[in-house]
Amino acid sequence: MQTKYIFVTGGVTSSLGKGIICASLGRLLENRGLRVTIQKFDPYINVDPGTMNPYEHGEVYVTDDGAETDLDLGHYERFLGVPTSQANNVTTGRVYLEVINKERSGAYLGKTVQVVPHIIDEIKHWMLKLGETGDYDVIITEIGGTAGDIEGQPYLEAIRQLRYELGIRNTLNIHLTLVPYLEAAGELKSKPTQHSVKTLLGFGLQPDILVCRMDRPLPEDVKRKLALFCNVEPRAVIASLDAESIYEVPLLMKEQGLDTIVVERLRMEEDFGAKLLATPDMDGWVRFLRQLKEPAGTVRIALVGKYVEHQDAYKSISESFILAGAMNGVEVQLDQILSENITQKNVKKLLGDAAGILVAPGFGGRGIEGKIEAIRYARENDIPFFGICLGMQCAVIEFARNACGWDTAHSTEFDADTAYPVIDLMEEQKKISAKGGTMRLGAYTCELQEGSKAHAIYGRKTVKERHRHRYELNNNLRYKLAEQGMAFTGVNPKRDLVEIIELPNLRHFIGVQFHPEYKSSVGNPHPLFNSFVRACVAYATETDSMQEPKGPNRKKSRHLASAKM
Ligand code: GLN
Repeated sequence: MQTKYIFVTGGVTSSLGKGIICASLGRLLENRGLRVTIQKFDPYINVDPGTMNPYEHGEVYVTDDGAETDLDLGHYERFLGVPTSQANNVTTGRVYLEVINKERSGAYLGKTVQVVPHIIDEIKHWMLKLGETGDYDVIITEIGGTAGDIEGQPYLEAIRQLRYELGIRNTLNIHLTLVPYLEAAGELKSKPTQHSVKTLLGFGLQPDILVCRMDRPLPEDVKRKLALFCNVEPRAVIASLDAESIYEVPLLMKEQGLDTIVVERLRMEEDFGAKLLATPDMDGWVRFLRQLKEPAGTVRIALVGKYVEHQDAYKSISESFILAGAMNGVEVQLDQILSENITQKNVKKLLGDAAGILVAPGFGGRGIEGKIEAIRYARENDIPFFGICLGMQCAVIEFARNACGWDTAHSTEFDADTAYPVIDLMEEQKKISAKGGTMRLGAYTCELQEGSKAHAIYGRKTVKERHRHRYELNNNLRYKLAEQGMAFTGVNPKRDLVEIIELPNLRHFIGVQFHPEYKSSVGNPHPLFNSFVRACVAYATETDSMQEPKGPNRKKSRHLASAKM
């Protein structure tokens, strides 16, 4: 059966929420019975975002197969509940690397290697790759950047060629633009969108659907104007209003019939027959949204990290808390605290009223002592604690120093000559000098100890979790930590690497070497986040620090008011 390809481009400005629109459309089509995946093409030269600082690019998202990818893939997985892979995120750097490697191996048989056709062909190859597996009915392809960017041009040309080759019943272009409101004129302006569509037309692409980001409802006359001047049907001009929560967007899109237009334009009824449902079944989603919007209270959790000034640096962690909060009937207020500001003196002031403390993943020494101080405070006061990756490593360092008496214990990442290297480089990492794609990446097996908290939380003996790190708990020094009461409740069976630590005497003290935040999805928050939030709620209730629901979630959503249950 022919796979359908939907290309989503952007115009006017970046940051309009293309990823969320792709994820929302994907979920609507999935709930109409189709098998959907979403892929992102990023026009930058890095081969992947793995070498970029979180301040540059936000969080790096990791897939099961160990790809370091754009954070939009996190949205795709959370909205669709389906894992992505390396093939779901391709950059210009990767495309060129492939082409240059082929050239070096002589694959082009003496030809001059050029942007047209070789780079464009390579892009087309990746655009079609997931479709050719036969695993999907629909491939949604998001193109990073905006129409007209110099570096984006090869992607637009690749889409043009594919539309020509596969035909209009199999391909679709959705263009996302900004329709700004001009205070002085008192109206929404269609001109930037017209210009952006003209730019696309210059590359031979006529959008089928316009999704217009705006901060107020779209008046009928502006809609008609956009339709007329951009050559799309009026009903295919969709308003993407600012929403209180990204999880409302699928319902906003459904209300305006985005999935219906896509289904009609791509003649899906003829091609997919009875398997295509007449309307997306969003009952489960609405139930989730109701939980999200009507929390019984607010629980305050402190996130101690190094990149807190960037709103997207801990994206999967903050989204996991939103999803786990909804599951527990509460709103999680995540207070991000810069670790380098924490000292023994002010730790009580900064963390005192938190119902739980999460120490975040990270690289490099800045703020390490603050993280260790936060952990000491959590351990000594029996406040629910959750350490992820570097957060777990810091918990081990703190315990070695303050419970085992190894004052100078450290990770060799921060002190190469420490007498007590409780965290140390993996043997095979010692030979590696190149930075890109060389960490322990992707899904590895973890066996859980029977009777441990981790075992009870997962309800299973064996799990697979995603990794992104170079350093490990040092097995040679494990004995001392164990003597003082630290339990190693999750271990990689093949290599005997510690994956999970616990302090069983405390109410909830868990550290994990992997990244559970990558595996939360709507209605299915990761069990470790779920149980941590549950522990924080219990602690807040016990210490009478549960707060009234606040924040935007308190307001009733108009989509919920109108949604059928
Ligand atoms: N810097 C640590 C390591 O490389 C932790 C990495 C992380 O937190 N993702 O092992």
